[in-house]
Amino acid sequence: MMVLEGLEVKGEEGSNMEIDIKEKNDNELTCIVEDVDVSFINAIRRICTVEVSTMAIDTVSIFKNDSTLFDEVLAHRLGLVPLKTDLEAFVLPSECDCEDECPSCSVSLVLKEKGPRVVYSGDLVSAHEAVTPVYDSIPLLKLKEGEEVELEAIAKLGTGLEHAKWQPTTACAYKYYPLITIDDSCEECMKCVNECPRNVLEYDESENKIIIADIENCSACKTCMNNCEQSAINVDAVENKFIFKIETDGSLSPEEVLKNACDILNNKSEKIVAFCKEGAKK
Ligand code: SF4
Ligand code: SF4
Ligand SMILES: [Zn+2]
Repeated sequence: MMVLEGLEVKGEEGSNMEIDIKEKNDNELTCIVEDVDVSFINAIRRICTVEVSTMAIDTVSIFKNDSTLFDEVLAHRLGLVPLKTDLEAFVLPSECDCEDECPSCSVSLVLKEKGPRVVYSGDLVSAHEAVTPVYDSIPLLKLKEGEEVELEAIAKLGTGLEHAKWQPTTACAYKYYPLITIDDSCEECMKCVNECPRNVLEYDESENKIIIADIENCSACKTCMNNCEQSAINVDAVENKFIFKIETDGSLSPEEVLKNACDILNNKSEKIVAFCKEGAKK
């Protein structure tokens, strides 16, 4: 079982899965995940990217567009504007009881501006305070003197499986936790230290030996190994331990993305278990 600020994931029976947060800000999270196998961490990565839903503009009714930007290009630009998402307040259109659109599954954003000026994402006026552009400074179009734009955009929840505009992550990746060993045949020639592109290795004068100064920055490129004539240094990976990084477009926080991905994986697992149990009874 792992716990991360209200996040609970049922691991394998007897699993001691652990998450250690290394860095965190509004849009980025880097953590060390231990005691999981590669299929699990890759499943979480894929779900974070394409199965956690987020809000994006889906349809646009353009009443007036005097700019030089074609309507379809403008609609495409609007679709890619990241919107703050409240997953508690809305449901996916496919899970909504309404026939077309309703306040439970969609939000209207209106744009009405007159030139001369550059129109930005922050000019969109949302009907719901929780669904607004993450950034106000994304240029949408340029209006010359007397030109006007008037449109209504409808934002809905969706997933990256359907369209990249619904992907909450701009980067989501893991790497094996590096394992570097230096044996006694090391002659402190400094080649590995000088050739490492990431300053992972250092010479410790007090101990008169090469030390690993920043293991988590190692990319496992093996440049150090390839430059060691004594074959004294070895780069490998720690089994079942990963460095996992999530960066979002701001529509959701990285913690929300990770929590929802874990919930989705739990639900999938429970469905498979129920299906197997049902099958075993027949
Ligand atoms: S290149 Fe090899 S011998 Fe030279 S300092 Fe590094 S580990 Fe030691
Ligand atoms: S594997 Fe590459 S990044 Fe890691 S310590 Fe060696 S040279 Fe540096
Ligand atoms: Zn609805």
